[in-house]
Amino acid sequence: MPEGPSVRVFHQRVSPFVGQRVASAGGSTRKLEPAALQGLRLMDTRVHGKILFLRFDPDEETRGQSAPEPSGPEVQREGPGGQEDSARCGGNAAGTWLQVRFGLFGSIRRNEFSRATQANKRGDWRDPAPRLLLRFVGGSFLTFYACQLTWGPGPMGTAASDILSQMFQRGQALEALGQARPVCYTLMDQRHFSGLGNVIKNEALYEARVHPLSLGSVLSRAQLETLLDQALAFSADWLRGKTQGRRQHTHIYQKAHCPDGHPVQREALGPPGGLQRLTWWCPQCQPQVPLEEQGQREAS
Ligand SMILES: [Zn+2]
Repeated sequence: MPEGPSVRVFHQRVSPFVGQRVASAGGSTRKLEPAALQGLRLMDTRVHGKILFLRFDPDEETRGQSAPEPSGPEVQREGPGGQEDSARCGGNAAGTWLQVRFGLFGSIRRNEFSRATQANKRGDWRDPAPRLLLRFVGGSFLTFYACQLTWGPGPMGTAASDILSQMFQRGQALEALGQARPVCYTLMDQRHFSGLGNVIKNEALYEARVHPLSLGSVLSRAQLETLLDQALAFSADWLRGKTQGRRQHTHIYQKAHCPDGHPVQREALGPPGGLQRLTWWCPQCQPQVPLEEQGQREAS
């Protein structure tokens, strides 16, 4: 799944189209009717974490009929509220924001289609079909690949947890990291670190010399600060590199050896019942705090 920096780049591709009207729309998506976008104007685009949001000018006819009771101002909400919000608004088809969530090979292209670079397992050379194709008045177009498209609420007050946002709140993030929970779980928790994905997680832990399963509660304030700094620095550098066409260099992610030549350990780690993600770490550079020093282990 593309991480925050990639989604920011997709956002930069879409931004120049704000203000333009959709001449025609198509694509293989079954989650929405592309034709419904025809004639609408792209009014705004935002990014929050790994989700891209597009707002089109409201379709006056459908809007008048199905307006639900007002749900109050879109206030700044954090933590579990974020999930609650999306559940609540999930049924609201008249929501004016199109949410785009990317799959592993998800992308947005401007004025180009994705081409097959190799034959698939069956030997076909078929080009991938865009999930959504938006042709704008004026002739330019956007293609959306390998993504899930849904109507829903806009990005609500969660910039504070977006690792690439100017509004990112350090204090809040440090508090979350300091919980009695393995830091590699907390880093991937989108409620606290929106946009942070597996690559950033692995690199930040390595750079901070922190074992992935360390409980945040046993790390010093300085260690937590370093871990956070490394995550933010890596993300910002990745984004900068992307806009300059530079490939992001990793030190531990998918490596067999750390930069010091130690063999790297690899294991799928994640909260019980949650997504287990392959994690790479160097047992020598990132030693595990002995269990007795960690005190009581988190129950869950
Ligand atoms: Zn090492």
